Amino acid sequence: MGTDLEMTVSTDDPARAKRAFDAAIAEMRRIEDEMSEWKKKTFVSEINRNAGKKAVAVPSDLFKVVWAAITVSDLSEGAFDISWAAMRGVWDFSKGHERVPSAEEVKDRLKLVNYKDIVLDEKKMTVFLKNEGMAIGLGAIAKGYAVDRAALLIAKEGIKDLIVKAGGDMRVQGLDNGKPWEIGIKHPRKKELLAKLSLTNVSISTSGDYERFFIKDKVLYHHIMDPRTGYPAKGSMSVTILAPDTMTSDALSTAVFVMGPDKGLELIKKLNGVEAIIVDSSGKMRISPGISLK
Ligand code: ADP
Ligand code: MG
Repeated sequence: MGTDLEMTVSTDDPARAKRAFDAAIAEMRRIEDEMSEWKKKTFVSEINRNAGKKAVAVPSDLFKVVWAAITVSDLSEGAFDISWAAMRGVWDFSKGHERVPSAEEVKDRLKLVNYKDIVLDEKKMTVFLKNEGMAIGLGAIAKGYAVDRAALLIAKEGIKDLIVKAGGDMRVQGLDNGKPWEIGIKHPRKKELLAKLSLTNVSISTSGDYERFFIKDKVLYHHIMDPRTGYPAKGSMSVTILAPDTMTSDALSTAVFVMGPDKGLELIKKLNGVEAIIVDSSGKMRISPGISLK
């Protein structure tokens, strides 16, 4: 998934810890082999190859992730859209291949981006992309799902106190020596922390414009796309979301980033058990009502 993985557990049995880590890593590899759009043999690649041609039957967990993605698209009025992936090649953020497209290219390719053209059949458990050239990419949601699964498998080994962190997505369970875990949130521009939170049994994800970007002609181009414009989203520098599960916090951090602070906070207030810390494009921090900073 192109990211660092960090797992912390507290147990007095090293063999148990090893079993838990092995199980978590194996599960994350399995998910990558199913959901990556970079590897040719995955189901996601299969769905993309068959765009405009036919529906592809997928395993239940991939179906569930795509379903969840579409739910977040509906909630965010299209700010979150896994079919953004059709823009790939038009935009390129990989080192040495950085590319800013012409306005015309963007406009042209944007016609293929629309989550409403992703057709799910719940009975047959198939995914169909209506138009040729369409593609999906789960970069903003699958990592969260993988973190949830890893945490579940670690807990199944009998471990209560744990952290699983993959890039900007983190699951926190139990306690750290009897106290809630203390989690720092990166400042999107400065070396110091933006905030510290005391957390237990919750998921926390951050999306930032500093994670993957390049600068050309003094303009910062980053990897979180506004599917409505075809350009990097403008309203935020970073968005941190707290949610009951990591698939949700992962997707919502990207969704709220694209929506911008005003609309984003409006959405967060409507969702149960979900909170947000946003740094807007002017560098100002905005928080939802349920956040208590240390
Ligand atoms: P990170 O990958 O740094 O944790 P995110 O969770 O915010 O950050 O995911 C960003 C990735 O999601 C991008 O690299 C891209 O693969 C994908 N993406 C970009 N824009 C959108 C969008 N509007 N909706 C859904 N996925 C997106
Ligand atoms: Mg995300």
